[in-house]
Amino acid sequence: MSPLPESSVLYRAPWVVPVVKPPIVDGAVLCAGGRIVAVGRASRLQQEFGDVDVQDCDGVLLPGLVNAHCHLELSYLDQVARPLATETMCDWIAALLAERARQHDFGAAPAAARQMLREQHAAGVALLLDIGNDESCLAGFSLPGLERVFLLECLAPTEKAQENVLARVARLPDDLLTTAHALYSTRPEVLQALKERADRLGHCFSLHLAESVDEIMFLGGEKSCFTDFMAERGAGDFPLPVATMRQAGVTAVLAEMGLLAENLLCVHGVHLSEPDLVRLAQVRASICLCPGSNRFLRVGRAPLAQMLGLGLLPALGTDSITSNESLDLWQEMRIVREDHPETDPATVLAMATMAGARAMGRADDYGSLAPGQRAQILQVMSPDLCRATRATELIDILTGTGRPETISWLSGNPQS
Ligand SMILES: [Zn+2]
Repeated sequence: MSPLPESSVLYRAPWVVPVVKPPIVDGAVLCAGGRIVAVGRASRLQQEFGDVDVQDCDGVLLPGLVNAHCHLELSYLDQVARPLATETMCDWIAALLAERARQHDFGAAPAAARQMLREQHAAGVALLLDIGNDESCLAGFSLPGLERVFLLECLAPTEKAQENVLARVARLPDDLLTTAHALYSTRPEVLQALKERADRLGHCFSLHLAESVDEIMFLGGEKSCFTDFMAERGAGDFPLPVATMRQAGVTAVLAEMGLLAENLLCVHGVHLSEPDLVRLAQVRASICLCPGSNRFLRVGRAPLAQMLGLGLLPALGTDSITSNESLDLWQEMRIVREDHPETDPATVLAMATMAGARAMGRADDYGSLAPGQRAQILQVMSPDLCRATRATELIDILTGTGRPETISWLSGNPQS
C-alpha cells in the first residue's frame, strides 16, 4: 500500500473525465498536497491507497476549463450592436471605440471586470488569459481558484504611437507582461520588441490574426474597410507587408518578422490558409478559436478540420462581451459542435481544457485530470448527464448542450 500525506482525499464519482484518457465510470481522483496523485477506477485506487479519506461526489468530475482569450476590461460596456449584413468589421471596431469613449468610467471598468472574473470561476474556468490596455484594470485581480494571466496589449498604428509604446514598454517592470494587438495595428518594430520581451519573460505571445477577410486584404495591399479606417486615424502610412502576403501569406509575414515560434498564440485564425496552417504546425505554434465572437461579427468559421488534420489542437476563448452574447466556454463548445458537426466531441472538450493550458505554457498545472496537475477539480451535474450510460453519450452532452445545471469546485482538501 502506498504511503500518503495526512491531507490526502479520494473523490469518488459516477464519472471521471480525465481528458487525456477516456472517461472512467465509477472513477476516482486522489489528491494530496494540492496536487492530483492518481486517477482511475475507484475500486482500484481504494485498494491501492487503503485507508484514505473518501468523499463521494455526484455527477461528473473533470478538469477546470481554460479561457484562452478574453478582454475583461470591456465587461462594463453594454453589448456593442452586432454588425448588420451590410456593415464591416471596421464598422464594429468604430462602434466599439465610440461606445468606449462615451461610457468611459474609471470606476465602472474594474468593478465590472472583477464581477466577470467571479462569473468565469462560477462557470468552471480555472485558468484565463486576459488581454487589456486599460490601466485601471491592470492589477489586483486575483481570485482563489482561478488563475488570471494578464497581458498588457500594445498597439502602434502610427510612428508617434510607436515611439510612445517603445518608451513605455522599456520602463515597465518585468512582472507586467505585454503582448501585441494585431499585424494591422502594430508596427513591425513594436511587434518585434514585444515578442522579444515575451521570449525573455517566458510567456506566450498572443496576437489577433486572420480574423476577417478585410484584414487579409488590407495586409496584402488590397483596398478593404481597413484602408479608410487607418487613414482616418492618421495611419495612412502603415507599413504593409504586401509582397510577402501576395507570395506566401500571413504566416510568412510572421516568419519574416521573427514572430513565428512555439510561444506564438494566434487568436481567431478564421482565414488562415492551408500553407499558413502547415507553417504553424511546423513550429508547434498555438491557435485560439473564438467561435461565438466570429459568429457575432459574421467573419466566418475557422478551418477546424484542416487544423486538426495537421495536428493543431486549437484552444477556445470567449473574446469580450462587446463581441459575444455571453462569456461562456460551455456555449463556445456548443457552437464548435454546431459549426463543425464532424468534430469528435472529445476533441472539443480537449480544446476547452488541455489546448488552452498548452497554449499558455501551463499544461503541467491545468487542462487534465492526471498525476501532478493542480487539484482544482470541476464537479458538474444535470439531469441529462445523470442519464448518460455510455462515455460517448456523456461527452456529447458535456460539449453539446451548454452550461450544466450545477457547477462546483473540489479543491483537493478533505471536506472541501
Ligand atoms: Zn480579442
